[in-house]
Amino acid sequence: MADRYFVDKPITGTDVTLSGAVAHHLLHVMRARAGTEITLFDGSGAEFTGRIQQVARDRLELTIVERREVDRESSVQFTLGVALPKGDRQRWLLEKAVEMGVTSFVAIDTARAVVRPNDGTIERLRRTVIEASKQCGRNRLMDVSIAAWPDFLRVAPAAAMRLIAHPGGSANRSASPVATQAPVSERPTIWAAVGPEGGFTDAEVAAAIELGWQPLDLGSRILRIETAALVIAVLASFGQLVPSAWLQHDSMVIERNLADQ
Ligand code: SAH
Repeated sequence: MADRYFVDKPITGTDVTLSGAVAHHLLHVMRARAGTEITLFDGSGAEFTGRIQQVARDRLELTIVERREVDRESSVQFTLGVALPKGDRQRWLLEKAVEMGVTSFVAIDTARAVVRPNDGTIERLRRTVIEASKQCGRNRLMDVSIAAWPDFLRVAPAAAMRLIAHPGGSANRSASPVATQAPVSERPTIWAAVGPEGGFTDAEVAAAIELGWQPLDLGSRILRIETAALVIAVLASFGQLVPSAWLQHDSMVIERNLADQ
């Protein structure tokens, strides 16, 4: 994919000014000149072609010459709650979540968490989301937020497929799932939670089950947090975590069929 530049203000009119790190990169690394056309996105879902009109030492003035709605979103509405791993593994996890089309990422605060997410963490994760979106072509930014475990459980809509990854848990998803996805015109909604290295406590699992969440077992080996999260994101994006009756979109059915082969 050609270089894409993120503008963190909605692009509404025909004129855009780029400054800061983006301008520096364009001017001094890419040696952009007046007349050069570049691709911009603002996280709203659209993609833009901007033509550079004027360059200053630390600023560029562009005219928007084309606006395109380019939808590279997943066919599922997927909220992924994860007890963050440490250091570099966070960046890896966020990058893969963006690539797999996760809609919302929630850093969950759990009893055995080794990382307590704060506003600084979220700022850093958002920068990773932007970098990953530039690279993979997503025109909507994956939302990033923080929630305490009880709040995460509570705000998940009861009609969604709600899954808590827990070794030894098992979800019988084909037989009458607890979740009841009503309007078929909407994208299937999935919420999933991945615990910390020490696992969810019994009380945390019990609280989820009590509210109708289903335990999900990912096999006989213990996966790292980011591996479990990626596996779930892949399964969700290929329509594997919901009953096939939920897959009304043609694209989802095709994905599911391909995955069945
Ligand atoms: N020490 C814990 C495992 C923690 S692994 C234990 O032995 O139970 C970190 C998280 O990844 C878990 O909380 C769970 O959400 C997920 N996970 C890892 N392996 C899994 C598996 N085989 N099945 C389901 N979830 C798994």
